[in-house]
Amino acid sequence: MKKLLFVLPLFFVYHTSQAYSNDAPPPEASSGLKPAQSITTTQGVCVTAHPLATQACQTVLNQGGSAADGAMAAAWMLGLVEPQSSGLGGGGYLVYFDGHKTIALDGRETAPKSAKENRFLDSNGAPLPFRQAVTNGLSVGTPGMVRLMQQISKQYGQVKWQTTLKPAILAAQNGFHVTPRLHLLLSVDPSLRQSNAASIFYPEGQPLAVGTLYKNPAYAQTLQTISKKGPEYFYKGTLRTAILAAANTQGSDLTPQDFDQYKVVTSNAICKVITTYQVCSAPPSSSGGITVLQILSLLQGELPKDPISAVTYLTNASRLAFADRDEYIADPAFEKVPVTQLLDSSYLQKRSALATGEHLNQVTAGLGSRQPSLEGVDAPNTSHISVVDSKGRAASMTMSIESAFGSNIWVKEGGFFLNNELTDFSFAPTNKGIPVANRVQGGKRPRSSMAPTLLLNAQGTQVQGVLGSPGGSQIIGYVAQATLDLLGGKTVQQTLDTPHILRRGDSTELEQGRFDDAFKQSLVKAGHLIKEGDMTSGLAIIWRTNEGWVAGADPRREGIALAQKDSVKAH
Ligand code: GLU
Repeated sequence: MKKLLFVLPLFFVYHTSQAYSNDAPPPEASSGLKPAQSITTTQGVCVTAHPLATQACQTVLNQGGSAADGAMAAAWMLGLVEPQSSGLGGGGYLVYFDGHKTIALDGRETAPKSAKENRFLDSNGAPLPFRQAVTNGLSVGTPGMVRLMQQISKQYGQVKWQTTLKPAILAAQNGFHVTPRLHLLLSVDPSLRQSNAASIFYPEGQPLAVGTLYKNPAYAQTLQTISKKGPEYFYKGTLRTAILAAANTQGSDLTPQDFDQYKVVTSNAICKVITTYQVCSAPPSSSGGITVLQILSLLQGELPKDPISAVTYLTNASRLAFADRDEYIADPAFEKVPVTQLLDSSYLQKRSALATGEHLNQVTAGLGSRQPSLEGVDAPNTSHISVVDSKGRAASMTMSIESAFGSNIWVKEGGFFLNNELTDFSFAPTNKGIPVANRVQGGKRPRSSMAPTLLLNAQGTQVQGVLGSPGGSQIIGYVAQATLDLLGGKTVQQTLDTPHILRRGDSTELEQGRFDDAFKQSLVKAGHLIKEGDMTSGLAIIWRTNEGWVAGADPRREGIALAQKDSVKAH
């Protein structure tokens, strides 16, 4: 497989998937593979999905900010420059090493208190078509992002809250140039032209052209007020009124009380020693951390040398982990999630006999007694930030508004989209008559796949690596495969360039156009059911080496890495 990687051509063209049907999510548009650009530094370093966000993080590190402050500056900026992916109208997860311990903050959206389990069923009890559920106030959860930022600043901030907001305020006032990716996503979106954001993103009926100077004065004003008055402007003030008005007009049942009651959950990150490192990631309500750790444990952190066996082992491990994920993982405030059992070494050792054998067809969850959620729709759009500061603190943060441009509901006064995160719940509340763990319930967090991850030495005292990715439930495969590659000795750039191989259900999923026919035929012979598709991961990786930190952004998107003191190019 390694050899294969280097003979594969790199793509510099834009891919789009075929036109989507009414029910399919908009495809994730890729910006093609960029040439190698990873950097090496002994200073702090930031990696994000957009040059301006990386630059904002760098600016704040240079002003004495911690990795947490840098991540915050990047996040405020991403809400402006990637309005399709994340922002104030959404939520996210942070995994943070503060120099002593590794903590997880859960800023996931919550369902309105009044939400019922039949929320996404039609009058006949059938699941709503996915797009209909997305572009509908019913999909909007109480946003967690601003509370998450408040908590990060309170627990880990070294500079003032205002300092982290400043770069994004300036960029929103002065404008930024529309990137090819934003333009492409606008061009292919099936519903945004009919939304209340149409006049902003399709002036004269056409998507904002590449290079257009786009200003967002409402967002600048919002951040300025948040900078002065703090998060209460969002959760209790006039901005809340505007958010509720925008959502309620589209059928949402969110209330002021949902905003009053929103809380970030702080807990220990979930960690497991894999080879010689502690791998730490986000606990439930995300399924990302447990599922990545299960895959790595089932494989004991490595793949066989033979390329076909490597794919078989990787995809078997992934399928086994997804079987457990689909049945047991949900918001732990509502469901007892057997985290300890799922990560128990003897349980995983027993199950690894299945992972490392022949290609698996029949796969069931390992702990019995439940039924899987009936899902299967993926609408990936999200953003990941990786930061290390000069004191060795590290932030791994993944944030989302779920689908591209979220629910398509634009808060005019705020300058941002509202999420459609509630479509991450199982639309059907039961399977074979048994309630599924990830069913809709009032106040509950929908299960996520986000997997912001840190690797530390075995004692958990020093960071070895920082990584994460967008990609819906494909995030899990991207992060697991990248971790295996790094543990196996690939460089950061080789890891970023490696073609993706995933398995979530019955098919072995291959990144489109990256594998030759002979290889695919060998997989079919070994029993794999192959499916190819675009896999626009957005990995952001930082890895410790003898020369310092090596950092790089996924060549499939527009991100960059910048060392703390690098000179900054104007954009
Ligand atoms: N809503 C998804 C999740 O929480 C994220 C979507 C994406 O990554 O694009 O897992």
